[in-house]
Amino acid sequence: MSDLPTVVATRGAAAPDLAERAAHLDAVDELAPARALFTLNDGVVYLDGNSLGALPSHVPDRMRDVITRQWGELGIRSWSESGWWTAPERVGDRIAPLVGARPGTVVVADSTSVNVFKALVAGARLVPEDRDEIVVDGTTFPTDGYIAQSVARLTGKRLVAVEPAGLAARLGPRTAVALVNHVDFRTGRLHDLPGITAAVHAAGGIAVWDLCHSAGALPVGLDTHGVDLAVGCTYKFLNGGPGSPAFLYVAPRHQAAFDSPLPGWNSHADPFAMAPGYAAADGAPRGRVGTPDILSLLAADAALDVWDHEAVSIGAVRAKSLALTDFFLECVAAYAPPGRLASLTPAAHAERGSQVALRCEGAPEVMETLIARGVVGDLRRPDVLRFGFTPLYVGFADAERAARVLAEVLAGKAA
Ligand SMILES: *Cc1c(COP(=O)(O)O)cnc(C)c1O
Repeated sequence: MSDLPTVVATRGAAAPDLAERAAHLDAVDELAPARALFTLNDGVVYLDGNSLGALPSHVPDRMRDVITRQWGELGIRSWSESGWWTAPERVGDRIAPLVGARPGTVVVADSTSVNVFKALVAGARLVPEDRDEIVVDGTTFPTDGYIAQSVARLTGKRLVAVEPAGLAARLGPRTAVALVNHVDFRTGRLHDLPGITAAVHAAGGIAVWDLCHSAGALPVGLDTHGVDLAVGCTYKFLNGGPGSPAFLYVAPRHQAAFDSPLPGWNSHADPFAMAPGYAAADGAPRGRVGTPDILSLLAADAALDVWDHEAVSIGAVRAKSLALTDFFLECVAAYAPPGRLASLTPAAHAERGSQVALRCEGAPEVMETLIARGVVGDLRRPDVLRFGFTPLYVGFADAERAARVLAEVLAGKAA
């Protein structure tokens, strides 16, 4: 930081102005108090909440109770007395308002990968069999693509990979299901969920959305936009902890016909009948498979408490996310040596998720140095620096500092 004035001098930018503006923006930020709810290292700017959300500080005590009292003292009684058995639906109902879904439509279970499988096969089973194409976002997160490929083989359908911008034009009477990422994990581009969903419906297909990078980051409006099925992570912007279980949304109009390819005893209408024949439960439990991973699930449950605080709402989070990413891009433009970085993240707010992706020559070494200097983002090989902005715990001074350190690293300056 001692070399800040040099950076300013060489770039001619008004760094102190940006630092002052950051201080002002933080001072008037209604979400600023939420930062105190998290355990963060003060020496570090944590811009990787789109990969693993930070720890809400009350979670360890809650988990101590879950482990020592609920498990240790109550033991098996906790399946009923501590509400373990119904936790997948109860936690689903807490996530539902964050993604614009009504109660009873979301269940928390298994990983996103597994839920993509359930949603794709069940989606294909909702339309006539002569619809023989599964359309997948050509820029998708890899796991969705791999699973779509396997589902196509299992169901005897053809896999069609198309970039989201060209997706509507590729739909037609053969479309069974379309699987799209709401936000591109690499570039941070936000795709047109209402428009693409409407196009899938106009073609007579089922729209499946992967909300991993939008749940907890921006309003999704699942019910409003008539989405059929959706999946998403709880360990990114929902801060549920490493590997915390994912969620699955089934629109009310599809619940009775939702035919899971993984019918386990937990999704049986009467699980404790231990009957040889399968009969699906009604509603959200139909998305379950086997015994829930209670410890991870209850850590995610506890983490959702931060959304109960008065100032915290998904609308406020979205507004701050856009302001933060705008400000970070402005600081980068002011500080960084010209020509070294190219933003892959759309400038238009309507097309931006909650991250900034910068293409950079020598990105692996740059990110390694950034992390060593306390700015934690991540790398998407070969050349993308990714910075996730979680408005609940990232502030404007963080954004300014991250851009300043990035510029110093690019200029080859020591700390
Ligand atoms: C993070 C992410 C996943 C992760 O899936 P897991 O099964 O939890 O490993 C899937 N899809 C997208 C779009 C993601 O961003």
